[in-house]
Amino acid sequence: MKSFLAMLLAVVLVFGVTSVFSAPAADSTPVTATTSALATSPHFDVDAATNTYMSQLSPEARANSDAYFEGGYWLVLWDCLWALGVAWLLLGTQLSVRMRNLAERITRFLWLQTAIYAIQYIVLTSLLTLPWNIYEDYVREHKYGLSTQDFAQWSGDQVKGLIVALILGTVALVIVYAVIRKATRTWWLWGSLVAIVFMMFVGTTAPVYIAPVFNTYTSLPDSQLKSQILSMARANGIPATNVYEFDASKQSKRISANVSGMFGTTRISLNDNLMNRSTPAEIKAVLGHEMGHYVLNHVYKGLVFFAVIIVIGFAFVYWSFGWVMRRWGTGWDIRDPGDVAGLPLFAALFTIFVFVLTPVTNTITRSAEAEADAFGINAARQPDGFAEAAVQLSEYRKMHPGPIEEFVFFDHPSGWNRIHRAMVWKAEHLDDADIRALQVITPVTSR
Ligand SMILES: [Zn+2]
Repeated sequence: MKSFLAMLLAVVLVFGVTSVFSAPAADSTPVTATTSALATSPHFDVDAATNTYMSQLSPEARANSDAYFEGGYWLVLWDCLWALGVAWLLLGTQLSVRMRNLAERITRFLWLQTAIYAIQYIVLTSLLTLPWNIYEDYVREHKYGLSTQDFAQWSGDQVKGLIVALILGTVALVIVYAVIRKATRTWWLWGSLVAIVFMMFVGTTAPVYIAPVFNTYTSLPDSQLKSQILSMARANGIPATNVYEFDASKQSKRISANVSGMFGTTRISLNDNLMNRSTPAEIKAVLGHEMGHYVLNHVYKGLVFFAVIIVIGFAFVYWSFGWVMRRWGTGWDIRDPGDVAGLPLFAALFTIFVFVLTPVTNTITRSAEAEADAFGINAARQPDGFAEAAVQLSEYRKMHPGPIEEFVFFDHPSGWNRIHRAMVWKAEHLDDADIRALQVITPVTSR
């Protein structure tokens, strides 16, 4: 589902569900922290400590994660080209016009015509992107050992995703097209406002209503760890009274957690991979990071950033729509921007816009992630747990990219950067009693 709506949803989910520390557990590379000796020495060497963590990964493991992540750079391009190909097919073969004509024969109500077209469009584009989707999301994930789903389970999730997209996408398109028809010259502004409000709605309701469609959430049994998590939440003004665990292991090996919700729906959730594959120090470090997203209001700030991007994107579509129509669109039979048969062109133009803006959106997200890292390490005070979690994330994210590479392609700080920052923090806190005590209590940790 590489449609325009799927992209909007993706944007919403990135910032709405702040599920940020997601990664496969490093099961093929057992990690044994050996940095305690470094910490107890009088001269703590940040670079040496960083290198010690980096060296926990075998050259093979590094090569594997580099290949997986670098392959992702190309996927950004192929995703874009595939989406453009689908749009070209719908427009060039007049399939889109026939879908509109069918809708017009069924009903004379404009909004219902849009809805009928939207349903056809979402189903058809999902089918047309299915082969690519199977490769990218199933075959490739299995090739790198990141997925735990068989094909039937994967397909089941795809069907659920399609149903969610059909409901949300149809509603959004009916409203956006009503606006485009009403405000023929200023729809780019009003239309983007609709998209932004829709994004806020999905962002606030998705963790509560959509996430349970895919995973089961259960209350984490009482434990010392749970008390410590809730204590950290109270200390940082997070109004959560319970911690939930969800069964992400049925989909992948990635560890993840999030602090989501607002208006009384605030909840702390962590997945079973994190629970089962990580040490308490790592879990606290990860949750400190997630609490950082909440306390620093990253959902709202993200909405502001992406609202600006959406307005510019709609303005770009408004401007380029007519230009493309004059140049190539004579045979497409699209009447005007308010004609829903032009949706494939709308989606194609927005896809190009999002593609070109990849480094910008990645940098917005990566900056917020770095802020959450800084908050989390101060809240959790677990520099080694944080570094170990960064090592655990390595199987699907390249550990040590060049600066330009990180700027363009990374939506999180690289593993090397995260470990290095954690070690800098540790070097400045070596005299603190709790950091000294950590070295005594947990001289060696292993998963
Ligand atoms: Zn994050």
